[in-house]
Amino acid sequence: MKTFSVATLGCRVNHYEAEQIASVLRGRGLSRVPAPGGDVRVVHTCSVTTEAAVKSRQATRRATRLTVLGQTEAATTEFDGPAKVIVTGCWAMSDRAAAEALPGVSAVIGHSDDVHGRLNGLLDAWLPPASAPRKSSLGMMSLPQLGERQTEHQRAFLKVQDGCDAHCTYCIIPQLRPNLWSKSTDDAVDEANAMVAAGHREIVLTGIFLGAFGQPTALRRRQPADRKPLAELIDALCTRVPGLLRLRMSSLEPGDLDADLIRTLGRYEQVVPHFHLPLQSGSDALLRRMNRQYSRQQFIEMIDQVNEAFDRPAVTTDIIAGFPGEDDAAFADTLAVADHARFVHIHAFPYSPRPNTAAARWTDRRLPPAVVDERMNLLRDRASTFSIAFANQFVGQDVTVLVEHQKERTGLRHGRCERYFDVHFEADEMVRAGDLLRARMDRVTAGRVHGTVQA
Ligand code: SF4
Repeated sequence: MKTFSVATLGCRVNHYEAEQIASVLRGRGLSRVPAPGGDVRVVHTCSVTTEAAVKSRQATRRATRLTVLGQTEAATTEFDGPAKVIVTGCWAMSDRAAAEALPGVSAVIGHSDDVHGRLNGLLDAWLPPASAPRKSSLGMMSLPQLGERQTEHQRAFLKVQDGCDAHCTYCIIPQLRPNLWSKSTDDAVDEANAMVAAGHREIVLTGIFLGAFGQPTALRRRQPADRKPLAELIDALCTRVPGLLRLRMSSLEPGDLDADLIRTLGRYEQVVPHFHLPLQSGSDALLRRMNRQYSRQQFIEMIDQVNEAFDRPAVTTDIIAGFPGEDDAAFADTLAVADHARFVHIHAFPYSPRPNTAAARWTDRRLPPAVVDERMNLLRDRASTFSIAFANQFVGQDVTVLVEHQKERTGLRHGRCERYFDVHFEADEMVRAGDLLRARMDRVTAGRVHGTVQA
């Protein structure tokens, strides 16, 4: 047994955890190959929507069927026996029995298991036993912190929080990741320093509910009012990690991005002016039925504060189209907030009923698919109009670009700028993935921004 792969679905937390799993397998002497190949194949799954669950199942079936050489016969590998397929992540929690029943699946490890212990137990059975002693604890938190270069992306994901107990009525996550956990600030600083030492210039701070970092609950009304652990963490990362050039926040809930946190974020040039703030709906009636922790007015006020505090910040969002009972007036409210915020990108999701969630029981209030599709298209049209207008503000100006891996067929390179959009540019062979370059913005066309690298 010599090789492994990790196929990853879902959120940034999942991508961080996939790197943790990869570091355990590398630690046992295996080398990484592209998914779904390899002697050991891990599928780190997602179950946030029905579609994600279906894709997780499909990715698992692909891993069980694909041989090393890609022929679709009972997966065989260089060592004697079929490839070992391990299913981890949220689908392993929401649909454990279904995953275990799939032919060719060797093991299913859920968040409620000692993930590190189970993984090594399996490897002990398949490989010469490891000498290093292991600490045992439950869930993904049992896995070792990261210190190597993350191979799948140039921006390093740094998970500092897990779990959610907010119970939005459409969301399955509190069932799959019920235990709130936060990394210590010192451990986060150590890990960030290791990521910078490994060559990462940008770190994306992530969690299941990032705003609940250092808090006993994600329910804001039950959080101690005098404590600001997330602001303290940002202070620490921006003052104790030399060489960290860009710090990006992943998703923040309205209410977490309060005046204090905005002040802290505004204090540091490393903090990029891009904020992902899930709105879900612009209707107060729907926000209440979704059990969200903010009102329409609070969301709008937060957007205004962000626009005041930062120079032309990029604001992106998540919106659910077709939540049960979403009438025309409610959707019009959502469009009105989108028009006010001028979101640079809208992750528009069709409502997806998830098992054992409150909203899944409201079957009498479901909307016809045609109406949902129409609303999805309206949201996407809005976002593309806003993103072109937003990017056009920077034509003739310089932005910083973090160069991505792939070279395009056209020979162009591309990379993400501090304000979220990608810039495409010509570059010589000296330019490497992970470099942070200055580029002059030349022009914006539908779906693409063109720039020229500056000396
Ligand atoms: S805050 Fe709501 S949507 Fe987000 S993970 Fe928690 S329950 Fe799900």
